[in-house]
Amino acid sequence: MRRTCCRVRRAQALIGVVVGEFELIRRYFVRPEGGRSAAAPTPPPETAVRLGIGDDCALLAPRAGFELAISTDMLVAGRHFLVDTGADALGWKSLAVNLSDLAAMGAQPLAFTLALALPEANPDWLEGFSRGLFECADRHGCTLIGGDTTRGPLNICITVLGEVPVQGGIRRDGARPGDDIWVSGNLGDAALGLRALRAAADDLTPQQRAHAVAALERPQPRVALGIALRGIATAMLDLSDGLLGDLGHMLAASGQLGAVIDVDALPLSFALRDRNRVLCLEAALAGGDDYELCFTANAAARSAVQFAAAQAGTAVSRIGFIDAGVAIRLVDGRGMPLALDHLSFRGYDHFA
Ligand code: ADP
Ligand code: MG
Repeated sequence: MRRTCCRVRRAQALIGVVVGEFELIRRYFVRPEGGRSAAAPTPPPETAVRLGIGDDCALLAPRAGFELAISTDMLVAGRHFLVDTGADALGWKSLAVNLSDLAAMGAQPLAFTLALALPEANPDWLEGFSRGLFECADRHGCTLIGGDTTRGPLNICITVLGEVPVQGGIRRDGARPGDDIWVSGNLGDAALGLRALRAAADDLTPQQRAHAVAALERPQPRVALGIALRGIATAMLDLSDGLLGDLGHMLAASGQLGAVIDVDALPLSFALRDRNRVLCLEAALAGGDDYELCFTANAAARSAVQFAAAQAGTAVSRIGFIDAGVAIRLVDGRGMPLALDHLSFRGYDHFA
């Protein structure tokens, strides 16, 4: 995952009361009913978890006709998140970035494990963290089935398990010349939020600032959209490291293809739209942590894409197309090539 902060210092919030390891697990991570609150909006598929927290292993029964989708993401304090990030935002984001990987495969979340290293067992921090974590888990019907807890520098490692119909996972190697390129939601808000948190002063209104910081701290994994795009998207991945870099991975996996991106079609929120053009392009093209889906689909499938997006309740934008070239070319709304010399994209060399 993307590096968002260079300073590594101890998480100062974690000073405090010591509870034993097993009491800590029981108090903050074991829930009645094997893991979900009664108010959970999304019930998990009638499955799957035969045995949850407490034994040597959890037991999961995959349904006939489905494959397991499995992904792991680690969050390290000072590297993937600012050390003063609130505990509940951190709980939410730790799971959300993992669910985003399931979404990018078109998978339905089932369960997750949590490996946690904590400097100290601070009840306030643990309460906030588990609240944010389970809020995200319940939203997507994903049950905590086990993990590991140890003392050490703050480090959160989650493994998610999901299911896709056999052969139905949407891989990143299926893009073909002529396919449209689409993205969900808006791009660049998380980069704007990181900039706002780091800058002593910024030119955002309070509403714009709140929107950008929420995009950074509480990304929305596009699970329903990923599932709705089964059989429609030819290739898909989630945007964690910036559009140009991540799209580059898709192009390479699909056989060294090229792409044309219309920068005037990039979806920008009300918070980013007002900024100067260089900042908008930098944030939307190279900013990390968006956790939106980027996918390709045949041009004949445009109405099917729009229908899937409407079903999922997530906006999508068509931002370009795949071609047989070997690079990503940027054009403006009139199709004119963009001169990039004055832009300072991080990682720009990758796409030259
Ligand atoms: P073991 O010694 O067999 O590895 P542990 O003592 O580490 O087991 O953990 C006891 C039980 O608690 C196991 O079922 C494990 O999966 C679960 N567990 C430990 N830490 C966590 C956590 N942070 N979240 C959820 N479950 C956990
Ligand atoms: Mg253990």
